[in-house]
Amino acid sequence: MKPLPPIAIDLYSDTLTTPTPAMRRAMARAEVGDEQKGEDPTVNRLHEMVAELLGKEAALFLPSGTMCNLIGISLHTRPGDEVIIEARSHPVLSETGGPAAISGVMLRGIATRRGVFTAADVEAAVRADIPHNPRTALVSVENTHNFGGGTCWPLETLRAVTTAARKHKLRLHMDGARLLNAVVATGISAKTYAAAFDTVWIDFSKGLGAPVGACIAGSRELMKEARRLKQRFGGAMRQAGIIAAAGVHALRHHVARLAEDHANAKRLAESLAEIRGIALDPREVETNIVIFDVRGLGVMAEQFVARARGRGVRFSMTGPSTVRAVTHLDVSRRQIDRTLKIVRELFAS
Ligand SMILES: *Cc1c(COP(=O)(O)O)cnc(C)c1O
Repeated sequence: MKPLPPIAIDLYSDTLTTPTPAMRRAMARAEVGDEQKGEDPTVNRLHEMVAELLGKEAALFLPSGTMCNLIGISLHTRPGDEVIIEARSHPVLSETGGPAAISGVMLRGIATRRGVFTAADVEAAVRADIPHNPRTALVSVENTHNFGGGTCWPLETLRAVTTAARKHKLRLHMDGARLLNAVVATGISAKTYAAAFDTVWIDFSKGLGAPVGACIAGSRELMKEARRLKQRFGGAMRQAGIIAAAGVHALRHHVARLAEDHANAKRLAESLAEIRGIALDPREVETNIVIFDVRGLGVMAEQFVARARGRGVRFSMTGPSTVRAVTHLDVSRRQIDRTLKIVRELFAS
């Protein structure tokens, strides 16, 4: 078999971003202390910035977004409880059953087309308060929705969902791994999106371009308990300012530029949609994720991905016939144009 060429254009995920030279300088210069003791000044600064950004009393730096979800779910539930969540959300698909294994909860997945469910879905999913049923405890929302195609939650839908949840005295958690993509795409502030939620978090290691880290925010009381869980899960660190500095740098310098990733995704989507056999509505591409169906090309996703990879472009699969491309800091507009040229050469006959 021919050896694969190096990956020249990597659309696999926005987790692939590498720290820029300026980010590395900020990391090298970071003031540090013992984070477990609350004495790391850079981590503390990041807490303040995130709490302010999300309109919450306090924030807590964690090693990963996965731990933010695990802690968020643990904070709001007891073992045996049920969580209302979208069926293809990250905790359902990509957290190795952590909510079940560690929080002891059941996830009630609501199937949707693009990741956004409705107040009526919540109403229908809430269990009656009788001894046989699991107790419905929490509604978790993913904004933007990753496997839904980078979908931004419409504010009206979000408000209806949170109102329905409160009516049933449910807690609210937002997986905001890419919340700032939604903010940049819609102009709606992070505070506005987060307002009704008990906990909300953002990831620094996705489009924001930091090598590691995420931050969860909520009330002072919840964050105090979150710190306890962080310690329990082995997430407490020492001189974490080195990595928190990347988060501080990202919030200062890498938020507005997400618009470039969105423009690149749009450009990619609009041109892919013109290729006969590729099914995709470019109007639905709101942020940096493009998901399209390739069945009409006479191939399945696996073959599409393999053939593109053979030309140095890496996509990922989200289903038997669906392919995902994610734009980010390390993908230029020229690379998008080059990608389109390669896809046309391979598949447009
Ligand atoms: C990546 C991602 C996570 C997990 O974040 P990590 O920092 O990779 O652990 C959670 N939710 C969504 C929507 C994600 O895209």
